[in-house]
Amino acid sequence: MWRATILTLFPEMFPGPLGLSLAGDALSRGVWNLETRQIREQGIGRHRAVDDTPAGGGPGMVMRADVLCAALDAAIAADDTRPRLLMSPRGAPLTQARVRALAEGPGALILCARFEGVDERVVALRGLEEISIGDYVLSGGEIAAMALIDACVRLLPGVMGEEASGEEESFENGLLEYPHYTRPRLFEGLEIPPVLLSGDHGAVARWRHEKSLELTRARRPELLAKGGGKR
Ligand code: SAH
Repeated sequence: MWRATILTLFPEMFPGPLGLSLAGDALSRGVWNLETRQIREQGIGRHRAVDDTPAGGGPGMVMRADVLCAALDAAIAADDTRPRLLMSPRGAPLTQARVRALAEGPGALILCARFEGVDERVVALRGLEEISIGDYVLSGGEIAAMALIDACVRLLPGVMGEEASGEEESFENGLLEYPHYTRPRLFEGLEIPPVLLSGDHGAVARWRHEKSLELTRARRPELLAKGGGKR
C-alpha cells in the first residue's frame, strides 16, 4: 500500500480534500494510507515550542532543527525507504515525471513547514528533498503537500477508472492536452469540431495531436524546447 506520512502543526487540515472524490474513495478502499503527525509533540518545554527567532536577525520565526529532527526520527522506522520531502518554495519545481516516480514508489514522508521555514541543518542532517509546487509563496506546506499527494494518488493502480486516462493527459507526453467536448453538439452557436463526430479514429487522433502541439506552442513553448511532442 502507498503510504503518506505528513509532519505538520495542523494535522486537522487532513485528509481535507484528500478525503473526497477519487483520492477519498481510494483512501477508504485502502489503496493508500495517510498518517499525520503533530510536530508539536516533539516541542520544547511546557509550551512545546517549535520555533525560535532567526539567527542574524530579521522578521518571522524559524522552525527549530532539534524539534524537527526529533519529529522526523519518531516518524521514520528503521526499514522505511520512503523519500523524505520538504515542501519549500526553494525546492525543485514538482513535475509530472517526479509525481509518477513517487507514485511508483512506496509512498512519501512529507514535512510541512510554517513561519519563515526550517533551520537549514534539518535538510542536510535528514537528507530531505525540497519540492516546490510553484513560484509563489503559501503560508504553509500543507496545501502544497495535498497537491503533491493528490497528483500521486490518482496514478495508483485502480484509482482512475480508465487505465489509459493517466497517459494521454497534459505533460505525460511533454505536451498540454487537446481540448475536450461533450453534448450538446451545438451550444450557444458553437459546434463540436466535426472531426470528433466523424467516427474516424485516425483523423481524431491526428486532430488531437495537432491541437496539443498548437496549444503547447502558444502557451508553453518551453515544453517543446525540452523535447515534448515525441510520439
Ligand atoms: N520564507 C520562505 C517562505 C516561507 S512560507 C521563503 O521566502 O522561501 C512557509 C512554508 O510554506 C514553507 O516553509 C513551505 O513549507 C511552505 N510553502 C510555501 N510556498 C510553497 C511552495 N510554493 N511550494 C511548496 N511549499 C511551499
